[in-house]
Amino acid sequence: MSRFLSKEAARLAPYTPGEQPTDAQYIKLNTNESPFPPSPKLMKAMTRAEGLKLNLYSDPTCSHLNEAIACHFELQPENVISGNGSDEILAFAFRAFCGEGKGVAYADVTYGFYKAQVALFGLEPTIIPLREDFTLNVDDYMDFPGTIVIANPNAPTGMAVSRMDIQRLLEANPDRVVIVDEAYVDFGAESCVPMIYRYDNLLVVQTMSKSRQLAGGRVGYALGSPELIGALNRVKYSFNPYNVNRLSLIAGAAAVEDEAYFQQCCGAIQGNRKWLVSELEALGFTVLPSYANFVFAKSDQIGGGDLYRLLKENGILVRWFDADRIRDYVRITIGSMEQLVELVDEISRLLEDM
Ligand SMILES: *Cc1c(COP(=O)(O)O)cnc(C)c1O
Repeated sequence: MSRFLSKEAARLAPYTPGEQPTDAQYIKLNTNESPFPPSPKLMKAMTRAEGLKLNLYSDPTCSHLNEAIACHFELQPENVISGNGSDEILAFAFRAFCGEGKGVAYADVTYGFYKAQVALFGLEPTIIPLREDFTLNVDDYMDFPGTIVIANPNAPTGMAVSRMDIQRLLEANPDRVVIVDEAYVDFGAESCVPMIYRYDNLLVVQTMSKSRQLAGGRVGYALGSPELIGALNRVKYSFNPYNVNRLSLIAGAAAVEDEAYFQQCCGAIQGNRKWLVSELEALGFTVLPSYANFVFAKSDQIGGGDLYRLLKENGILVRWFDADRIRDYVRITIGSMEQLVELVDEISRLLEDM
């Protein structure tokens, strides 16, 4: 490690993103991107004239984008903050709501970036194990006094908790913040957004990366009471006031306004997911019940690491986590039907050779 590194930086736990290869053409089913292009309306909104305004700073208040998001969810702009991906929003939330005297709790098997952010802010998290079957028992969190972070649906399992369960957490202690990370909610789970007016301790974080085909646009947002949003803005204006660039502000607003395209894409992903689950089960896989744009599956014939490596050698990228409890599994993004047919053909071939 560099001798120039601060003690604080030495204690970091950087996140390892899924591979983004530039060398070969892979069928890329490893980072939960959409297989579909962005909304055609977005391409129309990103004009040459907008490009020519890049000499000017972007709107630090993200007013047009926040209004579009608020309008979509029937909220007020005061209930919205936008960010450079929801990873940035999550960082604002960890800084705003966790620290001295305010702990943070999340599941043992969940989105890996929480661990990185907790290290960034020098927090000591309370890790609460999921049940044996990977379901989350909200009763395990009832007495926790600090901030709770729940990915719903969870990553990498794809499993969801009900809105009622989150409501019980919110009511059990109105003095703690419950952060619900809904990165995958549009693929079939119950959103907590309708509870925002009722619970001022609820922060819902969403992203345009998965269900609105904008992973490369880096647009995420949080929805919550004006007090919570104000706290996040306090952190934002201490870190990066112009956090969303001009082109992404336009792209995000166009994406949230194109409801028909959004519905069409989410519907296609759910249809493809259903097909993939049945094909994998026919091949002897155990597939966790997924409410996301990926499935988490294990084979009775081949380990997760081996399957990942063999698929990669054959041009297909999936995600494998070398971690306790989930080593046997691979996470497969729901791609286009053409991509999934190739995947299933390749897996069948690999299993026949064993
Ligand atoms: C992908 C993902 C995010 C972050 O996505 P951004 O691209 O930063 O908006 C947040 N939470 C979970 C659980 C995710 O899977």
